[in-house]
Amino acid sequence: METIENRLKDIRHDLDHDLSNIHSQEEFDQLKIKFLGRQGLINTLFKTLPIKDNPEIPKLINILKSEIEVKIDQKSLSLSQELRTTSIDVTLPGINPPQGSVHLITQAIEEIENIFARLGFIRRRYPEVDTDWYYAEGLNIPKDHPARDDQETFYLDKNIVLTAHTSNGQLHEMELMKHPPIKMTNIGKTYRRQTDATHNPMFHQFEGLLIDKDISITHLIGVTEYFVKSYFGLDREVRLRPHHFQFTEPSFEIDISCDICQGKGKINDKRCKICKSGWLELGGAGMVHPNVLRNGGIDPEKYSGFAFGWGVERVLMMKSGLKLPDLRQLFSDDLRFLKQF
Ligand SMILES: [Zn+2]
Repeated sequence: METIENRLKDIRHDLDHDLSNIHSQEEFDQLKIKFLGRQGLINTLFKTLPIKDNPEIPKLINILKSEIEVKIDQKSLSLSQELRTTSIDVTLPGINPPQGSVHLITQAIEEIENIFARLGFIRRRYPEVDTDWYYAEGLNIPKDHPARDDQETFYLDKNIVLTAHTSNGQLHEMELMKHPPIKMTNIGKTYRRQTDATHNPMFHQFEGLLIDKDISITHLIGVTEYFVKSYFGLDREVRLRPHHFQFTEPSFEIDISCDICQGKGKINDKRCKICKSGWLELGGAGMVHPNVLRNGGIDPEKYSGFAFGWGVERVLMMKSGLKLPDLRQLFSDDLRFLKQF
């Protein structure tokens, strides 16, 4: 029995010695085979010792076997950590994680927001799902107006609508501020029942509203020019055309000069294909209708204001000269398209 115990002791000693000298995966694999393999030291013990004569012997061998297994497991862990830290080649270039970028529309929104912020306009977020009062009734839009037609507008029920413009923010802002001066932009998503190559059911608008004492069309023109020259360039001109909207009086369509033909409408005696006689349409604007001021709790005898609502996609396309065969690409998840910007 004593010689048997000595043999086991030798194996333990052998294992400790081998484990402390392992520095590679190969050496480790060989050690496992040496001790636990089919022809390994443990199996040799079972084959060569008189296990049938003494039931204590297999017990002792099994205890040794589990000791070896535990030590080998521990070594496996420490070895993999050791190999990981020693195998880093610091001279190799790093692996760059894929980087996203800000979406084209978001870039445009941020730029628009910043331009108006420089004039003191505060950006608000007003609901894209709103009641008929804020969306239409309170904005002086009569029941039979196309903006309230469910052929064109998404109604969630009789009184709740996915807003087709950002002007609902006007009444919310008047209620929030209670007293002028009011200077806000409301930039958000708007929805209309339309889908083709040049229309998407969801698009973005930016609304501006300024109310104070003695606000006139001159202020509207000044703010518009500041935006147009900041966003499109100093050489762009602005003009107002009379128009009709329910929530402004007087109302205008605002045009900016075409950059392709420099507002001439012609290039080398040929008609400019981009514009109509030198001008491109920016969008609607006007002086806030007295009824709308009243509905927002503001006395139109004391205060006046102007408002405008323009399309983010529209100004983006006008500025960048981006020609999309299909506007809906902007809202697709096709990375080949989006990665270009
Ligand atoms: Zn032109």
